[in-house]
Amino acid sequence: MELGAGSTMMGPAHSLSGAAAWLGVGAAVSATDHAMPWPVLVVGALITAGAALAPDLDHKSATISRSFGPVSRWLCEVVDTLSHAVYKATRGSGDPRRNGGHRTLTHTWLWAVLVGAGASLAAITGGRWAVLGILFVHLVLAVEGLLWRAARMSSDVLVWLLGATSAWILAGVLDQPGNGSDWLFTAPGQEYLWLGLPIVLGALVHDIGDALTVSGCPILWPIPVGRKRWYPIGPPKAMRFRAGSWVELKVLMPVFMVLGGLGGAAALNIF
Ligand SMILES: [Zn+2]
Repeated sequence: MELGAGSTMMGPAHSLSGAAAWLGVGAAVSATDHAMPWPVLVVGALITAGAALAPDLDHKSATISRSFGPVSRWLCEVVDTLSHAVYKATRGSGDPRRNGGHRTLTHTWLWAVLVGAGASLAAITGGRWAVLGILFVHLVLAVEGLLWRAARMSSDVLVWLLGATSAWILAGVLDQPGNGSDWLFTAPGQEYLWLGLPIVLGALVHDIGDALTVSGCPILWPIPVGRKRWYPIGPPKAMRFRAGSWVELKVLMPVFMVLGGLGGAAALNIF
């Protein structure tokens, strides 16, 4: 169980749903002028799987906060403090008081867009090392999310090495003509601009996953709903499931795998 309280989805469910969402996008665009070359499909799915863990950077026992050693633990504290401050500063009269920042700022559409835009900007202005950095961070997270137990049993350094070598190899593949560094954005200088998209998608899929769990998720912030600016979006209480429960392990995760497989096959025009 990831977060003790049992009120959030576990890492693997977030990562699998993220990857499935990207493969679904791949299927949706396969018949258009913007069909994804296979490296974009694969790398995008891995980035989305990693980015789908990122919003929990506001919680110290979440996978992402333990993924990069002292760096991510420090970042986690900064993000938690920042989130709590933003919550207090923008709280509507109907929003409850809270003691920490978990599931606030980093669990909103605006955060998803800002982080994705930041990554895109870095990718087009920062050159090869920026692209490698974005790939590295998200591939490490994808390994943590998708290979959850295996990643936990191996050392952090091994996972970082795996992330670094895969980032290097995949960037090399993407760089080949026709392999998709210029997917969707084709003008000169826009190579890798698309890298922000799987990052936005991953964060949004995470938020929706959290919304389906017990306490909902304030995805709409800062758009107010009634007297609440942090309105917890979610289905009616009776329809919410407890995370880590059998629904997640026995229903959701297999469904994400099947949907992801179908999406990937459709994206590559296998049928
Ligand atoms: Zn979360």
